[in-house]
Formats: sequence, C-alpha cells, structure tokens
Amino acid sequence: MQQVIKVSHVSKVFSRGYFKKHHKLVLDDIDLEVSEGDRLVIVGESGMGKTTLARIMAALESPSQGKVLWFGENISSMNKGEKKLLRGKVQYVHQDPYSSLHPAKTIFRTVADPLKNAQKIKGKELRQKVKELMEKVGLTPAEYFFNKYPHHLSGGGRQRLAIARALTTDPRVIIADEPISMIDMSLRAAIIKLFKDLNDLYNIAVVLVLHDIGAAKYFTYEKGEVAIIYGGKIVEMGEGAKVFDNPLHPYTKVLISSSPIADPQIARNRVVEQLRSYEVPERTPQSKGCPFVHACNYYVERCMEQNPCLEAVEDNHWVACHLLVNKDVDI
Ligand code: SF4
Repeated sequence: MQQVIKVSHVSKVFSRGYFKKHHKLVLDDIDLEVSEGDRLVIVGESGMGKTTLARIMAALESPSQGKVLWFGENISSMNKGEKKLLRGKVQYVHQDPYSSLHPAKTIFRTVADPLKNAQKIKGKELRQKVKELMEKVGLTPAEYFFNKYPHHLSGGGRQRLAIARALTTDPRVIIADEPISMIDMSLRAAIIKLFKDLNDLYNIAVVLVLHDIGAAKYFTYEKGEVAIIYGGKIVEMGEGAKVFDNPLHPYTKVLISSSPIADPQIARNRVVEQLRSYEVPERTPQSKGCPFVHACNYYVERCMEQNPCLEAVEDNHWVACHLLVNKDVDI
C-alpha cells in the first residue's frame, strides 16, 4: 500500500519571551507512518502535543527538527504549486466545526464552492455531486439541507458537514483533531462510525486525535493502530487490540484503567493506580530522562538520566520504557 505520510524524527520547540527566551519542548523525536487505508489514533491528555503533531502532519505547522513526507516527498522542499496539488489529498478537520464553517454560507455552498474549485464542475453535475457527498456523511435527505445554514445543524451535523467539505478534494488521508470533543455524548459514536465507514468503504486513511480512550478503542480495536503520547513523546504504540488488551507502559495502564466505565458496579470495584504526581512538568530541549519519571511508581535511577526509545516488545507493539524493554522488573 502506498505510504501517504511519514513523520521522521520530528521535534517541535515553542519559544517565548523577548530578552530572555524560554524554550518549551512540545514534541520529542516522533516517528510515524500512515499508508493508504490505515487507521491511526493519537491519544493522550490535553497539553501532551497531540494537536501540534496533527498540524505538523497536515503541514499547517513546521517541525523544529526532522521531516514530514507526503507521498514520499519532503514537504519542506516542495514549491507552492507542488504543495497545493497535494494539499487536497491530505485534509484536516478542525476540532470546532462551527468556527471552521462560514456562518453566512448555505450548506449547499459550503460543499459546492470547494467542489467547483477542485473538480471544475457546475450546474446539474455539481448539484448531484454535492448530494452524493452529503449522503456519504449521513446528511440526508440532502436537498432538505441545501438552503439551510451551519447554525441550523447540531454539533454532530456540523461535524458531518465539515467532513463532507473535506471530501470534496477526494483526499487519501483525513486528519481530524478532537472531532468529537465539542459534540453531545450521544452523537459521538456516530461520528467515529462515520470515520470507520469512510476508511472501510473508500480506503481513505484516517488519523484521529482523541483524548477519549473509549472512542480510541472503538475506532482501532478491530483494525488500526494507536499511539499513546505523553510529554510530547510516543510512549506506546501498536495494533489497537494489543495495546488495549495488554497495555504495558505505566502511563497507558493508568490512562486505560481510569477511563469511564458504563457499569457502575464494575466502576466501583476497580482499582485505579495512583501516580506519584499529577503535574506535568514542562520539558525543554535540555530536559533529561523519561518524561513520565515524576509520576511513575516504577522509576529507577536510569529513568532520571536517559530518555527511553520506542522498542518492539512483540509484533506491531512498541514501548518506550527502560524497565519493560530490558525486562528488569515486572510491572
Ligand atoms: Fe517509569 Fe522509568 Fe519506564 Fe519512564 S522509563 S515509564 S520512569 S519505569
């Protein structure tokens, strides 16, 4: 399968201050690959670098170090025309569908305008194509919505519209940043199901940024990979079923064990490991050691000094933890 996006040794540093610069390490040496038809979820709490990573993958931001390839080409060495040609193939869906949609444009025009630009079609053909795209994302009957505006839709409806607009350029990958965080609980599963369908039916690779571990499991358990990110670093990655059935990194274990459970009896009886600290200290390019060391109950001296690399623990399952990779201690 064709590789769509490759992220190679990407780090990102944000700097602030005028006279005395302060540097914050937001992403730390990230490697990822997405091929046609893949499903990938990037999971972690707020402030861990997920959105920055997604924006760098979509070329909305540049890395401080490392490179991003689209279809095998380094995007930093593409000229404007080459980038424009490929931009339609890599679509980004924003977290807040309302602010990303033009409030004064009808729903028909929201989908038709980019379609006209991308596919140079008009008249009946354009109308038919808009109808097809709206049906693809579940906005049916399409004609009923044509003359309405984004504010007439629910949060879930607006997200569907944003996805229909993303499909106008026939993308090979959709990167969606927290696509369910601003919509009602009851509609969340339907939006994740829509992404699953787009992946299954049209072989579009889908990258979701989520903090909801239940949604991440629903999206990747049968097919796909999950990357757990902490302090700007991928600490565990692998097939969804392997990571959710056998989480290994101490952070992944806590994240999964503390996610909400529907059954109140099970929720009451479960034991959630307490961390040494719940603060997330800011990292700088000079920071040493494992990013999780301040919170980890299993740390050893080496964790203070050396930042562990992702290493394979089984087929399609990688962990960045000194103890797990070296099997010194059974966690
Ligand atoms: Fe904990 Fe050390 Fe593993 Fe980091 S490397 S998760 S501090 S045991």
